[in-house]
Amino acid sequence: MKALVLAEAGKIAIEECSFDEALGNDDVQIKIHSVGICGSDVHYYQHGRIGPFVVKAPMVLGHEASGVVTAVGQNVKHLNVGDRVCMEPGIPDMNSAQTRSGIYNLDPAVRFWATPPVHGCLRESVIHPAAFTFKLPDNVSFAEGAMVEPLAIGMHAATKAGIKPGDIALVIGAGPIGVVTALAALAGGCSDVIICDMFDEKLAVAAAYEGLHAVNIKTGDLAAKVAALTSGNGADVIFECSGAKQAIVSIADHAAPGSVAVLVGMPIDVAPVDIVAAQAKEITFKTIFRYANMYPRTLRLLSSGKLRVQPLISETYKFVDSVAAFERAAAGHASDIKIMLEME
Ligand SMILES: [Zn+2]
Repeated sequence: MKALVLAEAGKIAIEECSFDEALGNDDVQIKIHSVGICGSDVHYYQHGRIGPFVVKAPMVLGHEASGVVTAVGQNVKHLNVGDRVCMEPGIPDMNSAQTRSGIYNLDPAVRFWATPPVHGCLRESVIHPAAFTFKLPDNVSFAEGAMVEPLAIGMHAATKAGIKPGDIALVIGAGPIGVVTALAALAGGCSDVIICDMFDEKLAVAAAYEGLHAVNIKTGDLAAKVAALTSGNGADVIFECSGAKQAIVSIADHAAPGSVAVLVGMPIDVAPVDIVAAQAKEITFKTIFRYANMYPRTLRLLSSGKLRVQPLISETYKFVDSVAAFERAAAGHASDIKIMLEME
């Protein structure tokens, strides 16, 4: 089958590949339809590594996917041939202590698509555990199905934050993860979500949503906006999605007493935090790593219309034009949120 292969940093091509995999009793085979390009795919393309994860052998990219079931293993009850589905890309060891306690995203042995040495899903078909394959509601498109993966991160962050109805949240950073986190926070009960960044082009898509308030921190007054919406109390929930040192340091400035801060962005280096400023407000800091158990609830919110992601899809390319799509993503246009690939 054809697959998009990263040979080494800067070198990707569509190649004819075969994969040593067979349909197990608990698996399904899926013909891939749509795959979103993630920041991590682009990072592997540009640098050949992310931190400790190094591409040492040619690897198929892609982990945000939807498709159609083409075969089912004999134990599979909840899926049938022809079902439209999306897939969770991280498969844990089902016997690990973390999986048994429900935090399977933290299983050190998790195998995650397009994280070396595991091949991704930018190929004609995959074999995948049925337990990590989810039927798309009829009114959820393949592209929306592929968006469930990044959405799941925002959903996990919103869940960890313990949002109460009517909370006001601040999201720092309007990249793809910042925007999906803001949408998850709204769907999760926030009345208003302030989202800030340094680029108007990045904020424009978020600003078009009702309930999202976009602030450019270079040209606008974030503190004034937070104060105006919260009667001067500060934000009930803060999602740090930029990974920028200055942003992490500023969390206490914008937080309400008794608030929760969720650290979503991954800083490149160690960020100093004013502990006393955080203590004076009893801020609860939480972190997330990917997500667990978020696909079913994300699909329900997409189907209900409470999560709308169509505006986040900036451009759709055909699979044959994958290299051009990756070059576009790597160019990092500020107005691009998600580049989508369709297999045919
Ligand atoms: Zn992703």
